[in-house]
Amino acid sequence: MKNKIYKKISEFTSIGVGGECRGIFLPETTEKFIKIMQDFDKQSIPYKVIGNGTNLLFSDEFQDYFVISTRKIAKKMSKRNNYVTFSSSVNLFDAYNFCLKNNLSGFEKLASIPGNIGGAIASGASCYGVSIFDNLKNISIYHNGEVRTVSIKQLKKSYHSSCFLENTFIKPKIILSAKFELQVNNPCTIQKTYLNYISKRILTQPYGRSFGCVFKNINGLSAGKLLDECGLKGLQKNDAFISDKHANFIINKSKASFNDIYFLIQTMENKIKEKYNITLEKDVEIIK
Ligand SMILES: Cc1cc2nc3c(=O)[nH]c(=O)nc-3n(C[C@H](O)[C@H](O)[C@H](O)COP(=O)(O)OP(=O)(O)OC[C@H]3O[C@@H](n4cnc5c(N)ncnc54)[C@H](O)[C@@H]3O)c2cc1C
Repeated sequence: MKNKIYKKISEFTSIGVGGECRGIFLPETTEKFIKIMQDFDKQSIPYKVIGNGTNLLFSDEFQDYFVISTRKIAKKMSKRNNYVTFSSSVNLFDAYNFCLKNNLSGFEKLASIPGNIGGAIASGASCYGVSIFDNLKNISIYHNGEVRTVSIKQLKKSYHSSCFLENTFIKPKIILSAKFELQVNNPCTIQKTYLNYISKRILTQPYGRSFGCVFKNINGLSAGKLLDECGLKGLQKNDAFISDKHANFIINKSKASFNDIYFLIQTMENKIKEKYNITLEKDVEIIK
């Protein structure tokens, strides 16, 4: 437990919000990652494992647990026939590039999501009709001192959710690596698809610090469209504002607080309830 240096969670989230915690660990190998978790688990010390921190809103209050970020863990990518295995720290863009080099199709749409393999599986990431679960075969999991392999069939999962989001801070189940079965394809076709979807994203989504969409779509109904119809684009609370490009995005202009962002989230929720009598489900994970 020597390499504990950081404490401020905001430095590890894409929205740039989050108070101090007991300490943030940045292991550089999977072995060190497992060792830290084993030490915590032996004493039932609470901790939260995070990936790229792109789907998280932490409170500004002190968080009485440790955080382990997987972002510095050596990225391992391997291939056998049309199967690829990625460590949880590999981001989706690197996974796409590896597949492109190996003429394998499956990550070209997902590559535009800024998360890593572990975070993407835990949060059930999907976009443009493709889900991280589609080609997933099995995952290697650490839980309470043990490492085991679990097949996709055994995994509880749904739209933008999985059993890993039910993790408590004590002895959580953690993804170490994942194996995918992909389709052989022409690299030009793979790259063209990637460029097509990344351009689409650039055209429709805002730049700036965010955690992606605030709310999930409801049975194919776009939450962004409903929020837009409520006239919420541009609404501001101190340094937090609802993007005028996409009504389901909140941007931190500079020094937005948890309360500024939470105020906007509640306003969005209330407006949708008032106008459509629909209760929106949050896409972002909020940790108070
Ligand atoms: C600009 C922008 C656009 C986005 N667009 C999309 C989109 O199109 N589709 C979409 O689905 N999402 C989107 N997101 C949200 C986010 O990028 C995804 O949910 C992403 O997959 C989260 O990955 P992460 O590594 O950042 O996870 P984090 O945010 O770090 O963590 C998310 C959850 O996963 C858990 N977790 C992380 N690593 C592990 C692990 N190794 N084992 C177990 N649990 C773990 C965390 O504890 C947390 O509960 C977007 C976000 C941004 C900022």
